[in-house]
Amino acid sequence: MRLSRLAQEAKPSSTLAIDEDYRARKARGEDVISLGAGQPDFPSPPAALQGGEDAIREGRTRYTDVAGTEELRSAIARKLKEENGLAVTAQQVVVTAGAKQAIHEALIALVDPGDGVLIPTPAWPSYGQMVRLLDAQVVPVPLTAADGWKLTVEGLMGALSRAGGRAQVLILNQPANPTGATYTSDELARIAEVVRGEEITVISDEIYERLVFDAPFTSFATLPGMRGRTVTVNGFSKAFAMTGWRMGYAAGPAPLMAAMTAIQSHTSGNACSVAQHAALKALEASLDGPAGREPLENMRTAFRKRRDLVCRLLADVPGVTFVRPGGAFYVWVDVSAHFGRPLAGGRVVRDSLEMAAYLLDVAGVAVVPGRAFGDDRHIRLSFAASAEDLTVALKRIARALAAAA
Ligand code: PMP
Repeated sequence: MRLSRLAQEAKPSSTLAIDEDYRARKARGEDVISLGAGQPDFPSPPAALQGGEDAIREGRTRYTDVAGTEELRSAIARKLKEENGLAVTAQQVVVTAGAKQAIHEALIALVDPGDGVLIPTPAWPSYGQMVRLLDAQVVPVPLTAADGWKLTVEGLMGALSRAGGRAQVLILNQPANPTGATYTSDELARIAEVVRGEEITVISDEIYERLVFDAPFTSFATLPGMRGRTVTVNGFSKAFAMTGWRMGYAAGPAPLMAAMTAIQSHTSGNACSVAQHAALKALEASLDGPAGREPLENMRTAFRKRRDLVCRLLADVPGVTFVRPGGAFYVWVDVSAHFGRPLAGGRVVRDSLEMAAYLLDVAGVAVVPGRAFGDDRHIRLSFAASAEDLTVALKRIARALAAAA
């Protein structure tokens, strides 16, 4: 059987590959800890569980509107208004099977074959893969530790001139996976100025919005002039610990939302009706008062404590550097000082894949190699793990990397 050219180029997600390897070892009874997780280690909120059960019992098991139930889209519009200061109508919301589908549909609706898409890098691997599946081109915008892994005006302008007018779409992710970078509204305003001048459309991936630890979050679309050229993507996976339910959404200009709805109508149709009701109940509870907000706030507090713990423990790991993450649940660690020098047992590692394999073998800790995110000098540690596991894992990593020092 002959696979299409685009399918032949598609790579499976390497963030999933490490997880599989870890699970195989765990199943064999090995003493391994995963710092590879891309999802909160918390249960979905009680309101979501109740909403899901009710939906099944009440027979909410038929097709809904392709773009989602009126109730859920209205609740999302309310959330965007009350929490983000973003005025959109329910008709400007499309409910999708995870934020992943929202980003994919936005790209299909905005990008022609050969177009360039600006991706600040390191970046979540699926952005680049989705762009390639459209026969479009990734235009990486290199980020640096010195800038706190944040997109700068100079970086964006440089990438635009390299792209020579081919790139009109920017994917901005904040808080960022894998770096945890967060932006102040002033920093976003400077980017917005370039976006306005260059007539760029922005896909603003705000999936980690609620997991900010030090400063308030600003939705990109609320900056002057950005509402008409931004599609805001968010969802329930991270904020509500609902990854398995596959609930995400996009909000933005009506013609774009109509195009995305048309695309969705021919591909997947509506997102799962039961999951929509669960998401509706969880969202309403969180908007209606402290009781519904409590599970989310507890999770944020736990993640902030773990962020502090991991940063403290990393200070004792020889030869690594990192920028303290302001959000999400990842630390992006530069391990390149260890490349090319003998580690435990004389083993030499030369890149992030070999470092991840070394840490799994020697320390029994699964991490995600930076190569997956477009940077081979780093590994990503997730703190979606218990404080106990984090403590043991970081101590073991320190020992494995001290072997050479
Ligand atoms: N964007 C980023 C930056 C992510 O890290 C993830 C999940 N790992 C997603 C989008 C997709 O989330 P969802 O489960 O809503 O599809």
